[in-house]
Amino acid sequence: NCKNADDVLKAVRENDISFIQFWFTDVLGTLKSFQVTPSELEEAFEEGMGFDGSSIEGFSRIHESDMVAFPDPTSFQAVSWRPTDRPVARMFCDIKRPDGTPYEGDGRYVLKKLINKAAEKGYSYYVGPELEFFLFENSREPKTLDFGGYFDAPPLDLANDIRRDIIFSLNKMGIQVEYSHHEVAPSQHEIDLRYQEALKMADTAVTYKVIVKEVARKHGVYATFMPKPIFGENGSGMHVHQSLFKNGKNAFFDTKDEYGLSETGKQYIAGLLRHAPELTAVTNQWVNSYKRLVPGYEAPVYGAWARRNRSALLRVPMYKPGKEAATRVELRSPDPACNPYLAFAVMLAAGLKGIEEGYTLEDPVEADIFEMNDQERADRGIENLPGSLHEAVAAMEDSELLKEALGEHIFTKFIENKKIEWDNYRTQVTNYEIEKYLPVL
Ligand code: GLN
Ligand code: MG
Ligand code: MG
Ligand code: MG
Repeated sequence: NCKNADDVLKAVRENDISFIQFWFTDVLGTLKSFQVTPSELEEAFEEGMGFDGSSIEGFSRIHESDMVAFPDPTSFQAVSWRPTDRPVARMFCDIKRPDGTPYEGDGRYVLKKLINKAAEKGYSYYVGPELEFFLFENSREPKTLDFGGYFDAPPLDLANDIRRDIIFSLNKMGIQVEYSHHEVAPSQHEIDLRYQEALKMADTAVTYKVIVKEVARKHGVYATFMPKPIFGENGSGMHVHQSLFKNGKNAFFDTKDEYGLSETGKQYIAGLLRHAPELTAVTNQWVNSYKRLVPGYEAPVYGAWARRNRSALLRVPMYKPGKEAATRVELRSPDPACNPYLAFAVMLAAGLKGIEEGYTLEDPVEADIFEMNDQERADRGIENLPGSLHEAVAAMEDSELLKEALGEHIFTKFIENKKIEWDNYRTQVTNYEIEKYLPVL
C-alpha cells in the first residue's frame, strides 16, 4: 500500500517490476492504458506523461490536444493476471493540461469534485456495486456455457472454477469480495465487492472488469458486461448500494424511524428518486441498456422505493439490529457497462441535491409495480424511467443538475456522442423487422 511516489519507486525496485501500466478512462468509461518503464517513473511522477488527447473519446479537440497523465501513487498495485516473474504493475492517472490545471474531461476529476462537495458538508460517500456478467463461448454470439439459474451449484453451474480464479485474482490486488454466485440467467454470474469509499470503488470497478475478462480469457471463454445480451432472459445490472458517513457514523441511520432511516437518508433517497430520469443516460449509457430496463426481468422500469420489492428502482434493505453502519439505499437501475466515475458522481449529486433542498420522501411502494396499470401508477405518483437511449438523453439535456455535476465539457461531449449512437441505431434495419414484416408486407 503505497502512500507517495517514493513508496512506489521502492516497491518497483524491490519487486523487480518490469513495466508500470498507466490507466485512465475515456468519457464512456473505456479503459485506456500505456506502459512506462521503471527508468521513466521518477520523471513521470514529477512531470506527468504526455499523450494525444484528441484520440481519446470525449477528450480535447485537435488544436488543444496535449494532455498529461499524472499517476496516483496510492493506486499502485501489481496486476494479478500477468506473469509473476518480473511482474507488471498499474496506477490510475489524473489527467491534466500542460499548464498543470486539472482536465475537466477526466471522469476521475468529476467524481473527486462531487466527493469534495460532500466532504464540505462533512460526508464521505461509500458505495458497494454488484456487477453481473455473462460468460459466453466467444465474443461473436451469446452462446451460454450452462443451464444454471439463481444460486445453482455444480454441475448446473459450470463456471465455479472460473469464479474462484476471478476472486483469487481480485484478492491478490487487495480487492475484497463479499460473496459470489450463479445469477438468474444461464451462464450469468455475480461477484459482490465489499463497500468502499467511492473514488476507490470506481477504480476497483474498472479493475474488476479487466480481471473478469482476463480470467475468462485464460479459461478460453468470453466475459461480457453487455446489459442485455439475450432476449427473454435477465440482463446484467450493477445495483449500487450507497451511504453517507459523517464523523465515522452512518448518516442514513435513525433507530426512532419506522424504516430505520434518518432525515438525511430520506432526503438522499428522495433526491435519487426525483432525479433518476435525468441521470439514467449516465448509469445506462447504451442503446442496449434499455433492452434490460423492461418489465419482467428484475430490472427497474418505474421510479419508486421499497424495502423488499425488487421491482422498485430503489430498495432500502431491512434494518438488522447492531448493523447501523450497513444502513444504505440500493439503486437498481445502473448497468455494469456504465462509466463508474460518472455514474457514482451523478448519483451523489442527486442525493446531495435532495439533502440541500430538503426533499420529502413519499411512502414506499411494496406492491408489485409491474402489476399496476398506468392509472394506478399515476395515482401513486410513480414515474417511468426513460424507455430508450433517446428518451434518456432528452431528459439529461434538460437537466441543470447533470450539467453542473458533470461540468459543461463532459455534459456536452457525452450528449453529442450518445445522439450519434442513437442515430446510427435508429436507421438500422434489424433481423426482427425482416422476419416480422417481409413475409407479410
Ligand atoms: N439481473 C437483474 C438486473 O438486471 C438483477 C437480478 C438480481 O440481482 N436479483 O438488474
Ligand atoms: Mg446481488
Ligand atoms: Mg444480482
Ligand atoms: Mg442487489
